[in-house]
Amino acid sequence: MGRIRILSDIVANKIAAGEVVERPASVVKELLENSLDAGATELRLEAEAGGRRLIRLADNGCGMMRDDALLAFERHATSKLSDVKDLVSIATLGFRGEALPSIASVSRLVLETKTSEEQVGTLVELAGGKILKCEDAVLSRGTVITVRDLFYNVPARKKFLRSEQTEIAHIASLITHYSLAHPGKTFSLRHNHAELLSVTPVATLRERVFQVFGGQILEDLIDLGDQARDLKLPIDDKESIERRFRLRGFVSGPQVQKLNRNSIYLFVNRRLIRDRLLLHAISSAYHNLIPPACYPFALLFLDCDAEEVDVNVHPSKTEVRFHHGSLVHDFVRDAIRQTLMDQRPASRIPAATPPQPGAALPYSEFTQRMENMQFASAVIDYAETPPDTAVLPEFQLRRPLSPAPRLDFSETVATASAPRLAIPETHGPLAEGSFAPEPETLEALKDLRPLGQLHDSFIIAAGRDGLWIIDQHVAHERILFEQVLAARSNGGVASQRLLVPAVVGLTAAQQLEYARIADELHSLGFETEPFGNRTIALKAAPAGIGPADLEKVLFEILEISESELRRASLDDLRRAMAASIACRAAIKINMRLEPAKMDWLLRSLAATSCPMSCPHGRPIALRYATRDILKSFHRI
Ligand code: ADP
Ligand code: MG
Repeated sequence: MGRIRILSDIVANKIAAGEVVERPASVVKELLENSLDAGATELRLEAEAGGRRLIRLADNGCGMMRDDALLAFERHATSKLSDVKDLVSIATLGFRGEALPSIASVSRLVLETKTSEEQVGTLVELAGGKILKCEDAVLSRGTVITVRDLFYNVPARKKFLRSEQTEIAHIASLITHYSLAHPGKTFSLRHNHAELLSVTPVATLRERVFQVFGGQILEDLIDLGDQARDLKLPIDDKESIERRFRLRGFVSGPQVQKLNRNSIYLFVNRRLIRDRLLLHAISSAYHNLIPPACYPFALLFLDCDAEEVDVNVHPSKTEVRFHHGSLVHDFVRDAIRQTLMDQRPASRIPAATPPQPGAALPYSEFTQRMENMQFASAVIDYAETPPDTAVLPEFQLRRPLSPAPRLDFSETVATASAPRLAIPETHGPLAEGSFAPEPETLEALKDLRPLGQLHDSFIIAAGRDGLWIIDQHVAHERILFEQVLAARSNGGVASQRLLVPAVVGLTAAQQLEYARIADELHSLGFETEPFGNRTIALKAAPAGIGPADLEKVLFEILEISESELRRASLDDLRRAMAASIACRAAIKINMRLEPAKMDWLLRSLAATSCPMSCPHGRPIALRYATRDILKSFHRI
């Protein structure tokens, strides 16, 4: 007997219905998911003209018996669930039984399929949803679905298709995603007969990341390992149950700062999704590590009991709803943040990086280009979705990075984002092991030996693993930032009394803000008193801020609370205030430092919980690795 059943009306109506075919990428998504559900280990995709002329997916999955092959094109025909009960714990990628009929209704479709039980396979041909023929076919176990002339009978839809390049980029992005979720499977993509992706089975996610993105990106990534947490989830007032949540994947160090969320890849139970809650958890993990308007690279796999997550909330199944959202949010945020804190990744000085022999360079270039494109809007429409400000205020925080103070020398200084130096490739094989292995992390900071300053602004230091350049201002800023927050929670930020109180005039808006945050100002070391109409007297301020900066820092804080942080939590406000104080009180650039002071600065920096970047997200220390130095001198 066949496996596919038509869902009863009751179940069918409960399924979040909607048009699933919006563009070629939506077809690809449904086909890929069907093949994965069918247990395929080899998925070969072919497309022509951005998928409009042809999309063909061949898999080696379980295939379909003849009856099922015909039934599959009926609406709500699925082998994956039968009862309303099943809807609460969906373990397959598909469940609606809508995709094949929808795709068939807007294209010319040929299905060829064979199970291992049957001797011969079946070929079904349809056009505009009508079955034209059904006959025997010769093929090995698996399914090949060929979709030609998408939207040939829906001219209105066809008009809205974007350029061939855009459509194929969306398709490539999708198959890339699924290949990341299944390192043990083969995936390939050919477009107009050119190979765009081809990955063979590997044992680990790390190897798959290497296959897909190349080694360069891998160097900037931190492995989250396999983190599991048993969360106590309340069932009702009295009872609770324990459920295990698992997080795996990779995130970038703070030196990677993307301008959009396109490099965030999220999977829940191996299903590609977009989810505001998880995006917010990631942003929170990078809070005060990268600038507020920037995003990291993240490849996250969250796994949990199917009953904990509802996937039946969006027609294209790209959204999920967690039953215990805030617990999941905090778990993801803390897991990422803790890993970042523990690993202390160091930023590298852009160094000579000869192309690795054998690496699929054209494809990494392709993915690089893809990264800059928008995601398939049918699939992941981050860019088009207005953030839900009521729920997640942080998406509104678009605080421009305060401009870096200008240096008073004219030479350009290499920064983390400066173009790469064109240093010639090394010749011959690399002599491994000819120098000490290099810890890649900022743990090294505590053993650095300061050699001097560059332009009275950057500390140059020697370490076991290379040469370091540390921005003295942002380093001190990070130290003070953490000190202020720590002192604040221990009840006392060191403050200094002013000989003569400073009288500060406020605007009406500032006056209101002042009233709102007066207590918080007090716990951060400010002592102020109302002094007539729209005027306050400043009697004491956090230690370290020079008299000239006092008024500035106060205005800055009032402005923070007034504008973007209005809807944010008190904790965010406090951190922003501490960042502002730290910035004003920190050692400036163009300032000569005694060796002892440099030494102190490096050691204090090493002792901070996050020496990677300043509270505004700028990098603090750059490392020119011994290995790169040796390479540049052609010594290895
Ligand atoms: P759904 O995936 O929601 O069940 P679809 O319309 O996508 O609905 O597919 C209908 C049914 O066709 C599936 O339930 C499955 O039994 C069968 N099917 C589709 N594609 C494949 C495939 N590549 N291999 C085996 N069976 C398939
Ligand atoms: Mg399906």
